[in-house]
Amino acid sequence: MTGKATRGECTVCGKVLGKRALTRHLQAHFATGGRGRAVTVVHLLVDTRHGSEYWMHLMARGDGTLKDLDSFLREEWLECCGHMSQFKIGGRAYTSDPEFSRWGEGDLDVALADVLGVGEEFIHEYDFGSTTTLRLRVMGTWQGVAGRLPVTLLARNEPPERPCGVCGRPADVVCVACYEGPHGTVLCDACAEGHHCDEDYRLPVVNSPRCGVCGYTGTAW
Ligand SMILES: [Zn+2]
Ligand SMILES: [Zn+2]
Ligand SMILES: [Zn+2]
Ligand SMILES: [Zn+2]
Repeated sequence: MTGKATRGECTVCGKVLGKRALTRHLQAHFATGGRGRAVTVVHLLVDTRHGSEYWMHLMARGDGTLKDLDSFLREEWLECCGHMSQFKIGGRAYTSDPEFSRWGEGDLDVALADVLGVGEEFIHEYDFGSTTTLRLRVMGTWQGVAGRLPVTLLARNEPPERPCGVCGRPADVVCVACYEGPHGTVLCDACAEGHHCDEDYRLPVVNSPRCGVCGYTGTAW
């Protein structure tokens, strides 16, 4: 079964909650703040366009850049072979390789506080061939104390259930040779042994919306 709501753990206090409940929960942590110089802090919720079981709550410094956010998303969820990527914010595109893109597009060297307003929803696309499209929403901005890193993970979904298509036990691999739909053909190791496609077409089941796409194995390159 896919599409089931996933839960995730708050990295601040360890509480396990659903994606939406975490929004309010995390904002209470922001409100209590910490010690140090206050900066603009942006609370982002990242998932996919159809609101999947894959999601992350992030805290970004307003003085961090789109490049920082792009790097973070690549490292946690996306990077397979150094494809191009872009953000689409308010009708404008910001790309990792502006020289290859159309006139009027910007690069990623833009401060988040300058392009993101509260309630803003925007898009990140990685790989213009087998594209993984992420939806990002600004859940709030604060003057608060942020970590040193431009982007910090606050919570993410626990791995969704991916039952083997043959026996129903937890799946280990995706066969991309007979890839069917966004979730591929998933198999446990035992059933994969008897599977008819070549082994070279198998990718590990990983906790990312890019699972089973291109050569994604779940680790940063
Ligand atoms: Zn918490
Ligand atoms: Zn790739
Ligand atoms: Zn199986
Ligand atoms: Zn296959």
